[in-house]
Amino acid sequence: MAEQQYRVGIGYDIHKLVENRPLIIGGVEVPYDRGLLGHSDADVLIHAIIDALLGALSMDDIGTMFPDTDDRFKDADSSVLLKRVYDKVQAQGYWINNIDCNIIAQAPKLMPYIPQMKDVLAPLLGLDTMDISIKAKTNEELDAVGYKLAIQAQVVVLLERIG
Ligand SMILES: [Zn+2]
Repeated sequence: MAEQQYRVGIGYDIHKLVENRPLIIGGVEVPYDRGLLGHSDADVLIHAIIDALLGALSMDDIGTMFPDTDDRFKDADSSVLLKRVYDKVQAQGYWINNIDCNIIAQAPKLMPYIPQMKDVLAPLLGLDTMDISIKAKTNEELDAVGYKLAIQAQVVVLLERIG
């Protein structure tokens, strides 16, 4: 693996929407009457990015690396976890070429917050915002996401070996 030029990874995450939690997606607090339930800050997009990075290098997944039984990760800022994971990726000689994300939420409307999310993620990943794609989609009122019970994220990342 060490000599491979490119590695691709896929990440997926879903969290329940509940009352009395802030809604944090892509490191941005989005105004809404509910937020995502989880042991950490439950940032569904950053969790999917982390799993895509780990998957690209066939490393342990996010649940193994940051177990929800470990109090150190309670209400953890997921952007800090992302930074730690990307440090491990870079230590293996890989850098992100580009990243493509879907956030699937029936509500609230996320489109207005996407530029802010890119501004948060770009410096964390050492990328230009042009190399980060984030699409906001609904679930056409179908299934748990469509019933506004949950929010989902899907991410594909391409890693390139530099040097
Ligand atoms: Zn998660």
